[in-house]
Amino acid sequence: MTTRSLPILMPRTSEQRYSCHGCAGCCRDFTVQLRPDDLARLEAQNWTQRLGQSPVVEFRGRQWLRQREDGACVFLAADGRCSIHAEFGLEAKPLACQMFPFMLAPGEKGVRIGLSFACPSMIHNRGAEIASHADDVRRMVRLIPEIAQGQVRPVQLNASLQAAGGEEEQIVRTFERVLGRVDLPMSTRLDGAAWLTEMLAQAKLENVRGSRLGDLLDLLGDSFEEEIEAAPPEPPTKRQMKVLRQIVFAHVEDVKIGAAHRRGIGGLAIGQLWRHRTFGRGSGAVPPIARGWPERLTFDMVDRAGPATADEQIGAIDAIMLRYLRSRIITGRAWGPGYYGWPIVEGLEALWMMVAVTGWLARLHAGAHGRSEVTAADLEAALLRTDRAAGRAPWLGSRGERLRLAWLTQGGGLRRLVHAMRFTDESLEQDNLADAGDSPEVIAC
Ligand code: SF4
Repeated sequence: MTTRSLPILMPRTSEQRYSCHGCAGCCRDFTVQLRPDDLARLEAQNWTQRLGQSPVVEFRGRQWLRQREDGACVFLAADGRCSIHAEFGLEAKPLACQMFPFMLAPGEKGVRIGLSFACPSMIHNRGAEIASHADDVRRMVRLIPEIAQGQVRPVQLNASLQAAGGEEEQIVRTFERVLGRVDLPMSTRLDGAAWLTEMLAQAKLENVRGSRLGDLLDLLGDSFEEEIEAAPPEPPTKRQMKVLRQIVFAHVEDVKIGAAHRRGIGGLAIGQLWRHRTFGRGSGAVPPIARGWPERLTFDMVDRAGPATADEQIGAIDAIMLRYLRSRIITGRAWGPGYYGWPIVEGLEALWMMVAVTGWLARLHAGAHGRSEVTAADLEAALLRTDRAAGRAPWLGSRGERLRLAWLTQGGGLRRLVHAMRFTDESLEQDNLADAGDSPEVIAC
């Protein structure tokens, strides 16, 4: 690990906008871990006396913001505003609350600023240009000494190889190129990206370093269309679908620190085990696993809902997915410090698996609303749930999760599941393919 002062790298793109619209979704959805300076500020604000209880709970040796019975933050007022913000201002809040929906990934070239699509304003692309938040982000980064002082872990290509100069950028460019082929349907581009990832996972990368890796990536990027056409993905096996449903559960289940604190680990674990098994079985009613879970959901709703075929929906879905995937890859939220320190290849596997998870959930959402085809609204509802855990939930970064992905990739499961859970089914005659927009760059600011 090296230590030095790092520049802040903000995504510069006119295709992504954001301003907080005060929906309070993050105050209801997230469990906030507190830093020592957060604890000192809360103490100085004298909340224990005013709330009649400490606003901090300790769980597994760490300090967290207390949550109410319904899982919302104890500071969320009846008018939907944060009591700390209302009384003491933005900078008096815990740092994690100030920071959201920006996420930090300190790398060798600087601190890349990722964007969370668990925020409705980010998904709906509403507000000011992202770069306009640079001053605020810079102020917050300086409040985190370990990041401001530039403690950096190098990015790995795969489990045994460290990425050398320029290799990460070559991989970003290649996936950006595949995803940006808006002359092709989104389902083809996603299949191509999953295929390319499976190729990288199987390649002996130790033999193709530096410019030779660039040559290999160029070759794969040039040939993916023909290759996936020649060997289209088979339907997933029952076992692969079972694993997908278990991964859905792992991505979406919202473990509230308040509930864990009240019921204890034992009570929580039994309930979790039962829900996990139910997802694996995949029949009957879908148990509620997160806030705002629609009632009367059944697993067969997923099988009854298919990809979008209407022009308007295809265009809207394409635009959201392109924005989201570019953001994950370009701002470093797909691997390395932005994703549990995972190597690039495994981070890409996790990204495409999350796409399949989002497709499964979008079908469930469509089914809950009596639709037989996925719409952009179903994608947004699904992405709001799946992106909230990506890079944040410790269990998604576990060794068990890596082994599960490795098993799926070896069995060709990545392509099969991404294709089976595709969002759109467009014919090339349709005039509904997205505008590529400008490809975001990351700039120092
Ligand atoms: S979820 Fe987004 S828009 Fe809503 S309060 Fe949080 S930051 Fe603001």
